Amino acid sequence: MRDPDCIFCKIVAGELPAEMVYQDEQVSAFRDIHPKAPIHILIVPNRHIPSTSELSLEDDALAGRLLTVVPGIVEAEGIAQRGYRLIANAGSDGRQEVFHLHIHLLGGQPMRHSLG
Ligand code: 5GP
Ligand code: ZN
Repeated sequence: MRDPDCIFCKIVAGELPAEMVYQDEQVSAFRDIHPKAPIHILIVPNRHIPSTSELSLEDDALAGRLLTVVPGIVEAEGIAQRGYRLIANAGSDGRQEVFHLHIHLLGGQPMRHSLG
């Protein structure tokens, strides 16, 4: 449910500061501390799930929520029309650094063509 050593669990619980842009009973979204674009938001499940590799079919609703909050966030950020990029890193080849599942929402500038 919750990992006592996980920084994102602490942010979700309000025990570590972060600029929260959206929060409900299932997911939270807050600004990345080291933004890689003018808008860089992390969308996370409130429950501790290390990565997409640990999602199960019982997480259908939660996994859906991680994406269905995007329209409201990008509308509030003013980038719904211009567009943006969503990225979920997983494991060492994916260069995941924080092992609490998160989707990066990057925008406010044209993204680079390369994805790899
Ligand atoms: P990953 O490489 O795991 O996909 O991305 C982890 C992201 O979390 C990085 O972009 C990093 O800047 C961000 N991050 C790491 N620690 C913190 C923190 O304490 N607060 C916030 N808001 N972001 C963090
Ligand atoms: Zn966690």
